[in-house]
Amino acid sequence: MPQQSYVGDGSHTASYYAASANPAPDRPALSGAQKIDICIVGAGYSGLSTGLHLAEKGYKVAIIEGARVGWGASGRNGGQIVNGLNASLQTIAKRYGQDTATFVAGLVQEGGEIIRERVKTYDIKCDLKEGNIFTALTPAHMRELEDRMELWASYGIRNQEMLGREQLRGHINSDIYEGGLIDHSGGHMHPLNLALGEAAAFEQNGGVIYEMSPVTEVDHETARPVVKTAQGSMTCKTLVLCGNAYLGHVVPELTARVMPVSTQVMATEPLGEERAAALLPTDACVEDIRYILDYYRLSGDKRLLFGGGTVYGGADPRDIKAKLKRNMDKVFPQLKDVRIDYAWSGNFALSFSRVPQMGRIGDNTYFAHGYSGHGVTGSHTFGRILSEAIDGDLTRFDVFAQVPWYPFPGGRMLRVPYSVAGSWWYGLRDRLGV
Ligand SMILES: Cc1cc2nc3c(=O)[nH]c(=O)nc-3n(C[C@H](O)[C@H](O)[C@H](O)COP(=O)(O)OP(=O)(O)OC[C@H]3O[C@@H](n4cnc5c(N)ncnc54)[C@H](O)[C@@H]3O)c2cc1C
Repeated sequence: MPQQSYVGDGSHTASYYAASANPAPDRPALSGAQKIDICIVGAGYSGLSTGLHLAEKGYKVAIIEGARVGWGASGRNGGQIVNGLNASLQTIAKRYGQDTATFVAGLVQEGGEIIRERVKTYDIKCDLKEGNIFTALTPAHMRELEDRMELWASYGIRNQEMLGREQLRGHINSDIYEGGLIDHSGGHMHPLNLALGEAAAFEQNGGVIYEMSPVTEVDHETARPVVKTAQGSMTCKTLVLCGNAYLGHVVPELTARVMPVSTQVMATEPLGEERAAALLPTDACVEDIRYILDYYRLSGDKRLLFGGGTVYGGADPRDIKAKLKRNMDKVFPQLKDVRIDYAWSGNFALSFSRVPQMGRIGDNTYFAHGYSGHGVTGSHTFGRILSEAIDGDLTRFDVFAQVPWYPFPGGRMLRVPYSVAGSWWYGLRDRLGV
């Protein structure tokens, strides 16, 4: 029996989020030969969102998770609720046509709305806050942000506001920026607690979760798909694959579609109310618009959570604190002496076009992945669209399923070196400010 070892002992990575997680039960591992109507692999936002929408409609659903709920990107991320699907509407229009861009524009704010709805309906305690700022380091970045705002306004999305250098200082106490753009409909939250709250809501609606059950084999060619783990199997009418960057090579048809990429986050010691308010007075989350970007925000207990960097292929850098501390010192030299309490890494799934993907392999097996580093909102929207498809309404699913995808140049062996070269090029452009 092939073994999957990606989960280690299944514990959450040693993050600030794991250390401040709300209490959650240990769920059983899958054992014996089981049957269910709908089986989902992966208890991140994609799997939980799909499962919760379906369970609310009365479907019998089981989620099989290799480690613990929220163990992957969903429990480790920057917590930034960024509207959009990563690739710009302009790129989508150019590559896939105006109709697709108009369709995507209609759903870019849906993920954030789903999150707020879930938090409210199920009273999920996850430190939800409003406001998301994109910062500009150069005049060229400012023009890019102005274009972005204009473009979004042309699709009727008007919750954004440009901030000049001085106005931005009212939100971020740093000298390095030219200005920025605030999206009032963005926000931030404790990502692991959101996932744990959604898992509890799923169970409240009759859903079943198995933890510590890495799926090692998937048979999606039969009318009733079957997944196997070391101790059990699940036969279902409909299978949904939501393993994203951690699915590895378990489903070869999906391997070439995305590449795992790691990114890192660290948490300072608690700064105290006063120092935190001096740093980020409006408590919005922030990311700059470089290709290899910094992203940061305050936690509920007033630490600065500072993220950035990417490693193609998904490896962890040797010294995360040193790597991120250099970047944080450039933005906030006033934090030079603060203690760093936690630093961790996680993998997201990059698609070649940066447009996330959903589709079907075989008649009854669906998948969603490839949010390319901005998936907090996209995974929630995709979960809803998958649930609509499984419930018989394929309208929105079909638009995404028909979007062409491109494999990474170089195939499984060379895609990492090729992409590193591409990333080096974009990193150089960032450094030169072009
Ligand atoms: C460090 C970091 C920072 C980020 N910051 C942000 C941010 O601030 N804003 C934003 O919008 N996006 C961010 N992202 C991206 C975002 O977190 C992801 O796009 C999103 O969480 C993807 O959710 P998912 O459910 O598809 O995947 P995941 O959350 O990775 O979930 C996949 C789950 O499937 C399980 N699994 C995989 N294979 C198997 C198997 N064989 N058997 C059983 N289970 C399996 C895994 O254990 C995992 O729990 C960040 C990502 C990372 C890594």
